[in-house]
Amino acid sequence: MSDMVQIVVVGGGPAGMMAAIKAAESGAEVVLLEKNHLCGRKLAITGKGRCNITNTKPWGEFATHVHPKSNFVKSAFFNFSNAATIDYFNSIGLETVETQGNRVFPKSMNAFDVVDALVNRMKQVGVKLITDADLLAVCTDGSKFKCTYNDISSPRIIRTEVIMSNALIIATGGLSYPATGSNGKGYDLAESLGHSVTRCFPSLAALMPKAYDSDLYDIELKNVGLNLFVDKDLIQSEMGDLTFTEDGIEGPLGFRVSRRAVNALENGSSVELVIDLKPAVPVNELKERVKREVASFKWDVPVINEARMKKVLRRFMPSELINPFYNMSRNLTVNTLADRLKDWRFPIAKHAGFRRAVVTAGGVSLSEVVSKTMQSRIDKGLFFAGEVLDLDGDTGGYNLQMAFSTGALAGLNAAKYVGAL
Ligand SMILES: Cc1cc2nc3c(=O)[nH]c(=O)nc-3n(C[C@H](O)[C@H](O)[C@H](O)COP(=O)(O)OP(=O)(O)OC[C@H]3O[C@@H](n4cnc5c(N)ncnc54)[C@H](O)[C@@H]3O)c2cc1C
Repeated sequence: MSDMVQIVVVGGGPAGMMAAIKAAESGAEVVLLEKNHLCGRKLAITGKGRCNITNTKPWGEFATHVHPKSNFVKSAFFNFSNAATIDYFNSIGLETVETQGNRVFPKSMNAFDVVDALVNRMKQVGVKLITDADLLAVCTDGSKFKCTYNDISSPRIIRTEVIMSNALIIATGGLSYPATGSNGKGYDLAESLGHSVTRCFPSLAALMPKAYDSDLYDIELKNVGLNLFVDKDLIQSEMGDLTFTEDGIEGPLGFRVSRRAVNALENGSSVELVIDLKPAVPVNELKERVKREVASFKWDVPVINEARMKKVLRRFMPSELINPFYNMSRNLTVNTLADRLKDWRFPIAKHAGFRRAVVTAGGVSLSEVVSKTMQSRIDKGLFFAGEVLDLDGDTGGYNLQMAFSTGALAGLNAAKYVGAL
């Protein structure tokens, strides 16, 4: 293999693979370095193994799910939009379906099919793929980039290799789910090339309450309300489905408030989540209903002991929730029940951290990257794509679309830069 190529892409996630494909489709000679033995390890576990590829909402709505500066993604989105992404996957043999909430999945509901489609396309367009290649350092040598990586294909013999290129695309992901390969190395690489990196924190992460009952694990609540209080102020109100796990409160609803909650926790603020188990019923109506339900038992002695209270609770919640709700609600009486159902308080101790966070907030500073090209303002041959940038989205296919859009734009412009177009 030649040790000099036109473009090196670092990172074989969705952003890096799309960048490599678009650069190679534009006629450039491309090498992709991936640390893992296979590309797309994170992609393969997305959407609970089904991979929510994109979201078909129009840009105006899509942008409200992008943080911290949706405007930065606008050019990338219009160059390779959600519609273009679907068409592209269809054109390379991956059928897609749209489901509730404008979410798009592969028709097979199998994330590995998305990985395979991208890997096969890379082969088709001549991308040279080097896996088990852990990029250690990069420096400039005149107008060229010198990438030093370890070949870790054999656990016993680690060989250090060097590859030179005219352009470099960094697509190494963020810090979330490091077991899939994204361990923040891209930030060091960017900094070594003169870029600044903004403060990183986990987004879409579980929130662990101070008092938590293990009987709650794996319970899912449908159509409940969730209020986020920071330093006692109501910051965000949402409705939807929530899941309790070993790591705390998560699921679509938990994730919706997690970005602000994690940020507040990291800033030392107090954070409290308040679940409304009956968001559609005003509290006074609920109080009347509680009285009616209690009366319907026709108990001759009006004493409500634990066993009786649990019978009442069965009328208001799924059976698996009764014990933990009862245990966590001190001095629960018929008179306080309606208030407790609408105001179940969970002061939050901590967040689950990067280990299981879906996405990283923060990253390579957007002010040093040209949004129309994904090109560095510091070194014209350097490009960025995907989660390594200071960009993150809500759940719903926004993160993968950003990876595809920024990857496609970086690949195209890197190809232009090296004169392939
Ligand atoms: C459990 C989970 C579920 C998710 N589900 C969805 C979903 O359904 N829809 C959605 O839109 N988003 C989802 N996301 C978010 C989405 O997966 C990421 O935002 C997206 O994968 C980011 O793409 P990327 O290419 O920038 O980074 P990554 O996918 O993290 O890829 C980066 C790659 O770079 C490689 N790399 C890192 N350092 C080096 C190095 N030094 N040398 C060589 N290679 C290196 C890594 O091994 C990795 O393969 C989910 C995330 C998680 C964790």
